[in-house]
Amino acid sequence: MRVANGLSQTRLVIALAMGLMFVKAAAQDEYGARVEIAKAAVDAYRVEREADILRDFVALLSLPNVATNRHDMERNADHIIEYLEPRGFKTRRLNAGGAPYIYAELLSPGATETLLIYAHFDGQPVQEENWAYPPFSPTLLDGPVQAGAQRVDIDAVNGRFGPEWRLYARSAGDDKMPIVALAHTLDALADNGIELSVNLKLLLDGEEEQGSPTIAAIIEENAALFEADLLLFCDGPMHQSRQTQLVFGVRGSTTVDITTYGPARPLHSGHYGNWAPNPVMQLSHLLASMRNASGRILVDGYYDDVAPLTELERDAIAAMPDVTEILKDELSVHTPEGDGKRLEELIALPAINARGIVAGGVGKKGRNIVLSTATTSLDLRLVPNQTPARALGLIEAHLIDQGFHVVDEDPTPDVLRAHEKVAKIDWHDSGYPALRTALDDPMALRLTGLMRQIAPDLIVTPTMGGSLPLHEFGSRLAAPIVILPLANHDNNQHAENENIRLQNIWDAMQVYGALLASFGDRRLLH
Ligand SMILES: [Zn+2]
Repeated sequence: MRVANGLSQTRLVIALAMGLMFVKAAAQDEYGARVEIAKAAVDAYRVEREADILRDFVALLSLPNVATNRHDMERNADHIIEYLEPRGFKTRRLNAGGAPYIYAELLSPGATETLLIYAHFDGQPVQEENWAYPPFSPTLLDGPVQAGAQRVDIDAVNGRFGPEWRLYARSAGDDKMPIVALAHTLDALADNGIELSVNLKLLLDGEEEQGSPTIAAIIEENAALFEADLLLFCDGPMHQSRQTQLVFGVRGSTTVDITTYGPARPLHSGHYGNWAPNPVMQLSHLLASMRNASGRILVDGYYDDVAPLTELERDAIAAMPDVTEILKDELSVHTPEGDGKRLEELIALPAINARGIVAGGVGKKGRNIVLSTATTSLDLRLVPNQTPARALGLIEAHLIDQGFHVVDEDPTPDVLRAHEKVAKIDWHDSGYPALRTALDDPMALRLTGLMRQIAPDLIVTPTMGGSLPLHEFGSRLAAPIVILPLANHDNNQHAENENIRLQNIWDAMQVYGALLASFGDRRLLH
């Protein structure tokens, strides 16, 4: 009896579970269908209006946008505000003493969650003589300029634009594209009667290429505006494989110069070599004591603060396309540093990079002398949970350990006379720490799930190697931060001939469309 009862209970539980699974699967299907409907709607809209989208982009890219030119940046801000407001955005121009920022919000009836998207509309300075076409006269080519591509007149194109065609202009890839892509995505959704599942907020930065010097004040003075459930940081190039990518972190950064000292004046190396302390040799020994040949940092305690990769992060790295062999060929490298670890793992570790050494001369400028000084400049790439202050403190302690008397100003003759070895440390900037959002943060999980629906070949990257001051956001905003790069990896950002590949604009619109239509749909939560 009891057994039979138990069996029937088990059956009931199984039946219930299957029913639940069915409901959940149906919801998932419906959810998937919503993603597909949004993608298809955006695509259908776009195919009809490629020329319009490009004309809008050309108008925005025609405005010079070096952040130090306030007048230019105000013109850009005027243009963007006029571009967004007809789409229903409420906009505000924010200023904290630097170039303007634009805040824009589009509330959606019924939405309970908010997506904050960051992009920037300033660009790096240009050296016009190096450009194939003027940087502020956007030029469409039927391929990459270095492949001898031909110029295309947007108004003369009959029908579709080639997906591999490229638009050349400053900020085409970094970072005005999200503005035009978002605007047209919203038009496409509205045209098709698709409501936004989230409230949408935009923060458009007018001084990113200057290091966003006033961003902290902008956020602090307007904290309520930036309340959101997720911050999507739309900047930077996509993975070399061209697969859709989410990046969950950046490294921090700080820099330091170290100078070592020999005799008070340069000495004849024949008369004094072996007697006079040699600052180049001292500096070489010092650098060699800081890291081994494969890049492992030997500074005492340097890894103590470092947050190890989680299992999820390790799995994500293992699933990424391995570019090691391609990079070795492209860069003529026999043996990378890192004892066989792959690039993505190594950039999750701190790095001490000697970015330069200045001492004496070489070749025709070489002289047979023992120098008075030698200087190296280091850039320190930081990872969670290192702080610039702690990293710098450990390096200073390491110098002392190596027998140096450490100073922060040029040593007097008395100081040099009184100490066996002297090193001057010159901290350039205070730097900033790294940021890494947990892959299993609930919002991150939801985003990853949705992005996999949009692009099944999604690459999840725990951290990029480069540095962005995301900490400024991370330390002031509650929302988790994820980077969604949209530009082609070979967009030549910061350099001459910056460009965007047209398919990257179309893909960005699809991603935005599906995200806006579905992100706030809680059925993806399980
Ligand atoms: Zn950028």
